[in-house]
Amino acid sequence: MTESTASFWLERAGSWQPQDPGALPARSDVVVIGGGMTGLRAAQRAAALGAHVVLLEQRALVGGATGRNGGHVVAGPSDSTAATVRLLGMAAAREIWDFTLHTVSAMRDFVAAENADCDLKFAGTALLAFAEHELAGFEADAALLQTMGIAAQQWSRAECAVRTHSDAFIGGLFYPHGGQLWPAKLARAVAVAAARSGAQLFSGVQVQAVTADGAMLRVQTSAGALQARAVIHASNGWARRLLPELHDVLVPVRGQVLATAPAEPMWDFGLVANDGYEYWRQMADGRIVLGGMRWRSADMGRDCDDDTQLDAETAAGLRAFLPAHFAALAGLAVEYEWSGVMCYTPDGQPLVGALPGRPGEYIAAGYTGHGMPLAFMAGCCVAELALGAPPTIMANAFSPKRFANGTL
Ligand SMILES: Cc1cc2nc3c(=O)[nH]c(=O)nc-3n(C[C@H](O)[C@H](O)[C@H](O)COP(=O)(O)OP(=O)(O)OC[C@H]3O[C@@H](n4cnc5c(N)ncnc54)[C@H](O)[C@@H]3O)c2cc1C
Repeated sequence: MTESTASFWLERAGSWQPQDPGALPARSDVVVIGGGMTGLRAAQRAAALGAHVVLLEQRALVGGATGRNGGHVVAGPSDSTAATVRLLGMAAAREIWDFTLHTVSAMRDFVAAENADCDLKFAGTALLAFAEHELAGFEADAALLQTMGIAAQQWSRAECAVRTHSDAFIGGLFYPHGGQLWPAKLARAVAVAAARSGAQLFSGVQVQAVTADGAMLRVQTSAGALQARAVIHASNGWARRLLPELHDVLVPVRGQVLATAPAEPMWDFGLVANDGYEYWRQMADGRIVLGGMRWRSADMGRDCDDDTQLDAETAAGLRAFLPAHFAALAGLAVEYEWSGVMCYTPDGQPLVGALPGRPGEYIAAGYTGHGMPLAFMAGCCVAELALGAPPTIMANAFSPKRFANGTL
């Protein structure tokens, strides 16, 4: 596979030698395809439940979106709460909020239990409005969240100016539960826990096909074939390559991110603007990680699972964004730029569960750019389902059955 662009998170996470998994076995209870947050959590949970687990990652572990994102953990649906209620109803929106809030607390518990060094903190997330329609959306969401008992604070234009050090924003909605982390480091900690529970985690092994083999499944890989009782597709932006019937359901979308040189402290919370398209945060060393601007590319990054390239228009937009809105950041050098592959679904919800028409095959994918508050529990729950155990938590809106015909 061609070299992907160099992500700050992967380049600066420090050296890491994952445990040697030994030889590829001839059979396994569970084969997990993909070594990002979803696959690693699935492997960790399945191994903890006593299953023999083989995880196959075509690159190095954590080399996909999990090692290349913006580092925000914001509970809630990928779209606004009001839009989610309109599309799916109040009960579904509530379930999605519950799932993501549960993820956030499970992540916090894991980090504490494993003493995982991944800079996880919950300093809050500010959604910021440039335009009146965004502000109206915040008002609608604030009212809904109040009825749901979920904390959120509306910010006036003046409060935005004080908190953000910019007068670009006409109002905001602040989630006090919003978090920030070093995603690749958390995923590595999950890999360590999974290996400790006995999961065999292979890098540099690509799965080429999954086919029925009597009561078992045959998994053909670049390193030979093996049999499995259950297969979990945790390959997110690349999942449709092995699942062509979901070509129009699991759509890869390329996103782009930059990291600056260290700057003076500006914000300890995460910031999101322009209907969610731009997102940024400052790390303890002063660097700012900013993602978004894919609306500047001709195709919005859609249908692209190639993270070996940068889009020039998107890069130009990202480089201009901080100086345009924050006078103090004029002239700040950009030190890293990279791209990554997200996976969007038609209704903005992931697919978590058994794959229709494919006995023994399961999936957790399609987080629509919002995987940090989803993948950590989705991986865990899909492993439980694959082993016939009740899932720790689930949202009906995530059922793959809704796409049984390859569309909604
Ligand atoms: C630019 C960008 C910014 C983002 N920002 C945020 C953010 O700030 N907050 C947030 O919540 N979410 C964000 N996301 C989304 C989040 O990163 C993803 O939803 C999440 O990482 C998905 O995890 P995953 O394990 O399912 O997928 P991935 O981490 O992509 O892992 C899938 C793995 O499967 C492997 N694979 C694929 N096919 C095969 C095969 N055939 N055989 C073997 N291995 C295979 C891939 O190499 C890859 O490593 C962002 C994503 C991107 C790209």
